[in-house]
Amino acid sequence: MKTSRRGFASLMFLAGITWKSRLYGEPKNALDPNDPTAKALGYYEDHTKVDLSKWPKKAQDKEGKQICKTCVFWTKGGLKAEGREGEWGVCTLFPKGLVSATGWCNSWALKPGT
Ligand code: SF4
Repeated sequence: MKTSRRGFASLMFLAGITWKSRLYGEPKNALDPNDPTAKALGYYEDHTKVDLSKWPKKAQDKEGKQICKTCVFWTKGGLKAEGREGEWGVCTLFPKGLVSATGWCNSWALKPGT
């Protein structure tokens, strides 16, 4: 398999995040949607509240399938965030906090087999 330099760099970035989250354990708190990285990637705790004029990828999701729980970067669900209702989980891209099962960001990609 031929891997481009950019692809390799992306893999190393994700491997670093995964390693870091394993080292420090999973977060207990909900990810702050105002976190700079979360804002840059358009993270919303509720996918129905996404500003569709700003995020056209989500605007194409007529059936509402693009949610964190169906995303390839969602690695662990069934968790509770401190002081919050609903289901939360671990996202490879956001080691600082748990993401909502019904959340969304612009990095969403369908988890195979979903
Ligand atoms: S990458 Fe996927 S799991 Fe992570 S916040 Fe974005 S949509 Fe949710």
